[in-house]
Amino acid sequence: MDVMALGLPRIGKFVERHVLSIVEYCDHHPEEFEHLRDESYCKSTLGVRYPFFRSPDLIVGRYEGRYRSSPQVVVCGETVLFTNDWYARHYVGFVKYIADKQMIDQDTAAAYLDALSESVPRAGAAGEAGSRGRLAAPAIGNAQNLLVRNVLGRIRPDAHAHGGWESTWSYFGGRCAYCDEPLAAHDKDHVFGINSKSLGEHKRGNLVPACKDCNSEKGDEDFRDFLDAKFMADPATAEDRKAAIFRFMLERDYLPFALDPQVDPAAITALLDQARTRVQEVATEYVAQIRSLVTS
Ligand SMILES: [Zn+2]
Repeated sequence: MDVMALGLPRIGKFVERHVLSIVEYCDHHPEEFEHLRDESYCKSTLGVRYPFFRSPDLIVGRYEGRYRSSPQVVVCGETVLFTNDWYARHYVGFVKYIADKQMIDQDTAAAYLDALSESVPRAGAAGEAGSRGRLAAPAIGNAQNLLVRNVLGRIRPDAHAHGGWESTWSYFGGRCAYCDEPLAAHDKDHVFGINSKSLGEHKRGNLVPACKDCNSEKGDEDFRDFLDAKFMADPATAEDRKAAIFRFMLERDYLPFALDPQVDPAAITALLDQARTRVQEVATEYVAQIRSLVTS
């Protein structure tokens, strides 16, 4: 099978494509519907932090924003929503799950897994623009991301943004701030990603040593969620790592927008998303204008 022809989309889209197969499977195996509404089953089987299916009226508190509002699906006569909380690292587990349930045949599964073993590490290593694990980010997304980085970098610039790395390095003992493995190279990660969702900034208090694995696994995910998921079996370690990072931020006078009680992060996100939309509109407008010059 031609792996290129598989056209693997990003994980959220891939899941969406297979939801109806899962619905159909559950209609024939009602016990699986129960499983997929169970948080610990979904954690151990799919690696996700939220139950795959959930009733709309139960989507409150920590579940808010973790489910797609549409399409609603009807499973065993009950209307439910499915989670949208997918990251590139869930891809392999999801493929194995749908193969195990025979929603795809074994050859297709093997081809997907081959393609993934090629593309996932590359997506993670492609730099921050691609680090969310999108396997085929549209070019306009890169322009939008750059605009957001530029804007976030200019709101309250850090005079020391380019200094102090050595002291950061020794603060963490030359180890990854997330998994505590000793680092050979001076790899770094922005704790709060510089994007419209995490609202991180290029400040020394936001830059920590991080191994390549953690860097690519974390992607654009909130570092607290990432650590909770990574140390699912050892919550005390997750709390220790979070506390160490917060102490570091405090010592470097970095108060992230996301944690500043004086700031409404949603308002900043809304403005940055507006800016992203305008980048798209500007591109579309100029494509149309230039096309009108070159076509008769
Ligand atoms: Zn690490």
